[in-house]
Amino acid sequence: MSSSIPSQSAPAEPQTKIALESKVIAITGANRGIGLGVAECCLVNGAAKVYSIDIGETGDEFQELSTRFPNQVFAVQGDVTQETSISAAVDKIVEEAGALHGMVVNAGRTNHRAALDFTTEEIEALFSVNLFGAFYTARCAARAFIKLGIKGAIVFTASMASYRPSKRVPSTPYGASKAGIRNMTHTLAMEWAQYGIRVNSVSPGLVNTAMTYWVPQQPDWEQQLKYYGGFPRLAEVQELGGAYVYLLSDAASYTTSIDIPVNGVIGI
Ligand code: NAD
Repeated sequence: MSSSIPSQSAPAEPQTKIALESKVIAITGANRGIGLGVAECCLVNGAAKVYSIDIGETGDEFQELSTRFPNQVFAVQGDVTQETSISAAVDKIVEEAGALHGMVVNAGRTNHRAALDFTTEEIEALFSVNLFGAFYTARCAARAFIKLGIKGAIVFTASMASYRPSKRVPSTPYGASKAGIRNMTHTLAMEWAQYGIRVNSVSPGLVNTAMTYWVPQQPDWEQQLKYYGGFPRLAEVQELGGAYVYLLSDAASYTTSIDIPVNGVIGI
């Protein structure tokens, strides 16, 4: 009688090293902010090539990364709200790099208003990037993985706002869009397990990017963060990278449908 359950999809040589050697990773919204920080962490941890798919222009920080990692980091234009645009960007990456192993679904936007004050246009714009765009991006990546026969990894950027509202800066559509991402993580992980595709998310707390420019403008903001407990500061983008690198790596080959909160501020 066999003493072990047969395993059909375990890797032939299980890996425990948390690294991205020879992997091609695409990240939406990586021209700056969290996406760019994740791109840097991927490269530092051995990724062969990292592609930013972004609607905006690259800036000095992106150029600096390109200089540090010549011929390893690239920017491709793409608008996640248009599935044809994101699909064309993914096709271009696969054509150029010959592979795609990981997709970080990160592009997002926010808007802080009381629920009664949001305009219809603002609500639609927010959902169209954060939720619909995330869904289109994940589908385009999954189609590419399946076509290439690669057991790829998808990592969404959710948010601590998906778990609980912020009393100081409420945004109902933002929180709902990010909660939708975590729900999508579980459903897609279930649907695409048959292809060996893993789907997970990372939930940052407050991170020092253009999105949180308003935080240090608040009077006594460090005191306020102290009041909420944890670290009385914003995270730097590189401090999130380890969670993404782990979820993208073969070390996480049996990890799917989870969220990793990276939140030094406990109660906000
Ligand atoms: P950011 O504004 O610095 O960067 C967002 C990037 O997304 C930009 O480069 C922008 O051009 C790109 N983008 C926007 N719309 C796009 C579209 N339609 N198609 C393609 N690219 C598009 O923001 P960030 O702080 O780096 O946020 C990145 C992600 O992290 C977002 O999903 C955000 O909701 C999430 N997040 C941020 C924080 C934070 O404190 N900064 C906390 C939790 C979650």
